Amino acid sequence: MAKETKMSSCVFCGENATKKNKVGQPVCGEHADKDPRQVACPECGMPMKIKEGRYGFFWGCEGYPQCEETFQVQELVEE
Ligand SMILES: [Zn+2]
Ligand SMILES: [Zn+2]
Repeated sequence: MAKETKMSSCVFCGENATKKNKVGQPVCGEHADKDPRQVACPECGMPMKIKEGRYGFFWGCEGYPQCEETFQVQELVEE
């Protein structure tokens, strides 16, 4: 396994993501076939999208750059 592999967590449960779903969200094997996760921005109400940054995946607001709301994947997992 390469050392440079970015940490990514399943957007549903926060477990180690092993693949991406059809819209590019990191998911574990168990949630791979689930409908893509939808998250609305609490600041402006726009949909949030999974983006890939230098430290891994995160939720970013579609209203960027007007709205700079972001969340780590871990912060928005369902309990
Ligand atoms: Zn999962
Ligand atoms: Zn926003």
